[in-house]
Amino acid sequence: MDTIANFINGQYQAPQSQQYIDNIEPATGEIYGQIPDSTGEDVELAVTAAKKALPAWQAMPLEQRADFLNAIAQEIENRIEELALAESIDNGKPISLARIVDIPRAASNFKFFAHACSQFASESHAMAGVAINYTLRQPIGIVGCISPWNLPLYLFTWKIAPALAAGNCVIAKPSEVTPKTATLLGEICQKVGLPAGVLNILHGSGAKVGQAICQHQAIKAISFTGGTTTGAAIAKLLAPSFKKLSLELGGKNPALIFADCDFNNTVDEVFRASFANQGQICLCASRLYIERPIYEKFKQALIDKANALQPSDPLLAESKMGALVSKSHLDKVISYIELAKNEGGNVLAGGQRVTLSGRCQQGYFLQPTIIDNLPNSASCNQEEIFGPVITLQPFDTDEQALALANDSNYGLATTIWTKNLSRAHQIAEQINTGIVWVNSWLLRDLRTPFGGMNQSGLGREGGLEAMRFFTESKNVCIKY
Ligand code: NAD
Repeated sequence: MDTIANFINGQYQAPQSQQYIDNIEPATGEIYGQIPDSTGEDVELAVTAAKKALPAWQAMPLEQRADFLNAIAQEIENRIEELALAESIDNGKPISLARIVDIPRAASNFKFFAHACSQFASESHAMAGVAINYTLRQPIGIVGCISPWNLPLYLFTWKIAPALAAGNCVIAKPSEVTPKTATLLGEICQKVGLPAGVLNILHGSGAKVGQAICQHQAIKAISFTGGTTTGAAIAKLLAPSFKKLSLELGGKNPALIFADCDFNNTVDEVFRASFANQGQICLCASRLYIERPIYEKFKQALIDKANALQPSDPLLAESKMGALVSKSHLDKVISYIELAKNEGGNVLAGGQRVTLSGRCQQGYFLQPTIIDNLPNSASCNQEEIFGPVITLQPFDTDEQALALANDSNYGLATTIWTKNLSRAHQIAEQINTGIVWVNSWLLRDLRTPFGGMNQSGLGREGGLEAMRFFTESKNVCIKY
């Protein structure tokens, strides 16, 4: 049994409550570890450690802070095999995906912000002949970072790296469903000699330790990624305290596929955008709008690919589709498939839980599922499923495609597939999502603003946006 601990003040320690939560391996359905069921008492210890560490961390020359971040990145790269294995066991994702995407990206997050903090200039505004203003961007102090289970180390470090780079001390909580690589990050901090208390990692449920982090008065900002309902609850909780809050929430992302697209490449990429990580990426496409002349052909190509993609043990090198993250999540996704059938949907591929033989017999596997014949107003077209389930709808004009895509409470990411760049520009301008990809998906430049509109969140991460979030601006006006 793998019992993990909180990382506070540079040391691993048991939760004050001595209570633990089971950690289940999604591919086997078996308990393989215990994680601390932390409470406000652990938050208190972490805050004390962070307070002690803060003055020296804030005063440290930028280059030296950047050296620490680069050293963490290097150590993540050194331990890539161990981290990829841990991520795959904890989350159920194919080990190849963890090795190629999740873990390298965690290293890139630290490298990127090690550099970005040196590029973060302050503004100056001259009032001719009268005065000069300059704006200081100062660390906020102690900040909280709370992340979800779908890209565990990738999203955890996407918050921690800019927060540290900007000179803050951090109290971070990974999802209780996928705590393992976050725990290993503590070892990495020890190895590179990150000063004690600069980064504290607490484990446990959202309701206990997550909420306690949000509510602690000494924690001045919260960067949260997770579900829209949770984000709304946190926003409500924090409103009276006026804490800085960044919310990266759910999505229901449209893919607009035009008849003039590069057919084969678009089939491949849209399929990847739909089912990568078992459809459990906030940016995954889940509503596919296909121009009528190619509707049948495109649909058939997707069905063929779905039928050829069978879930397998994620630890196998050749696995392309692993397990869903938990039994409750699997049940939720299946309930949406049932709902789609009740609402008149045609299940064209998949739709069934998969039982594997051997060690994965009790794992949470689901076939890639394709549904059509649902109106845009159907639950499966409006609500986030966050699993390997996509819906297809035909359209006839650009205007109709745009209207269908914008008919959503969410607003995270859109993909547009066409050779007509003028059309792509026009739709990109009018679509209500924070991110638009044309003829690509998940092509990331870490300098760009990342985030969603409407129910998909508040604020942006990435590049200097993140540096702005994790600093307070202070204007100084000097009269001549
Ligand atoms: P979740 O909202 O259940 O949990 C996210 C984190 O918040 C976890 O660490 C959880 O313990 C914590 N939490 C839960 N309740 C809390 C509370 N009351 N106070 C403080 N913390 C609390 O989300 P999830 O199921 O882990 O993740 C899936 C969701 O995340 C999906 O909706 C997905 O779209 C979204 N997501 C969004 C992005 C993005 O960048 N927009 C990226 C990845 C995932």
